[in-house]
Amino acid sequence: MSKKRSLPMRILIALVLGIAVGLICYFGGFAHLTTKYFKPFGDIFVNLLKFIVVPVVLLSMIDGILSMNDMRKVGSVGIKTVAYFMVTTAVACVIGLIFANVFKSAGLFPVLDPSEAEYEAKEFGGFMSTLVSIFPTNMWKSFTDANMLQVIVISLLFGGSILAAGEKARLCRDFVSSAYAVTEKLMGFIISLAPIGVFTYMAWVVATQGSKILVSLLLVITCAYLGYIVHAVLVYSASAQVFAGMSPARFFKGAFAAMIFAFSSTSSAATLPVSKKCAAELGAEDDIASFVLPLGSTINMDGTAIYQCVATVFLASCANINLTLGQMVIIVVTATLASIGTAGVSGAGMIMLAMVLEALGIPVAYIGLIVAVDRIFDMGRTCLNVTGDIACAVCVTKWEGRKK
Ligand code: ASP
Repeated sequence: MSKKRSLPMRILIALVLGIAVGLICYFGGFAHLTTKYFKPFGDIFVNLLKFIVVPVVLLSMIDGILSMNDMRKVGSVGIKTVAYFMVTTAVACVIGLIFANVFKSAGLFPVLDPSEAEYEAKEFGGFMSTLVSIFPTNMWKSFTDANMLQVIVISLLFGGSILAAGEKARLCRDFVSSAYAVTEKLMGFIISLAPIGVFTYMAWVVATQGSKILVSLLLVITCAYLGYIVHAVLVYSASAQVFAGMSPARFFKGAFAAMIFAFSSTSSAATLPVSKKCAAELGAEDDIASFVLPLGSTINMDGTAIYQCVATVFLASCANINLTLGQMVIIVVTATLASIGTAGVSGAGMIMLAMVLEALGIPVAYIGLIVAVDRIFDMGRTCLNVTGDIACAVCVTKWEGRKK
């Protein structure tokens, strides 16, 4: 069994052990010991997540922009693909936010720590001042403050400029792709530490919060899965039917193998070979699928966007922060961008969630509450991510065909 394959098992064991130890401490009356000796290790894991988020966003965004260079060559396919990705991801965010807000208004999301009740969400000072504030005056400050919107602007500016500089920027290009490869390795290492984070945080959370959090986690997972299912049924069925003239049953039957593989591997990138087969079976042209699917596995993450919206509203609720309508708009924008910046590997969406939380001023440490069950979220979101890529390949094939 490969090391990667054993990670889910280790996380599952850590989850079960963490809950068991937490319950023992809860009923035995030594919850304080988990705060003293377990939580710090969970904190270390969260610190590492926070530490990696700026390099990951910066480098993956620039790397993505540089790969769009090729996309331009493919011309109309590139524009259609990106348009499909953007629209479906924005719709995914809206669906995620609707479900999350319904669950929150129904009182299904908890307020976990009353001491945080005083916490004030960053004021949303209106559209224009938000617009001005995302443009940095000092990029090092943007990095040290982990101001993710500014980091994205920096990525866009540098990515565009490297493209514009052409051949002279070869060194920069190589540097970005090399540094991104290193960052991906580091991200893999941090994710491999997840069992430690899972065990210690789970034991601490269960011991100090009792069973309340377990029920809440089940609810937030249900909320995300409802979002995934509705998005697949509404958006992918509709686009297969309307744009490709294909019945939803035929589409999902054809995509099924890739969906199952994505569900178990939790990696869009690892699912690519299977997605290609499925797309071919569904009639996607080979050259279009070869362009759309790899690009999609890097930047098209509808499931991740839904997860990030649901998780953000859930964690804001846990922190007793009431989000305003303006902040919901920020969630749609940042979750769309965060999902684009999410690598198609296991657990990446959770790392990028830190970016959405940072943008809203929600304490990133709250990710610790859902770290333990991230795998369950990830199975569904990767499945949706891959389905979206296949749907796009099928639709773009039709659009291109119609033009001929
Ligand atoms: N695992 C997801 C994927 O590969 C990314 C994520 O973690 O959201 O598509």
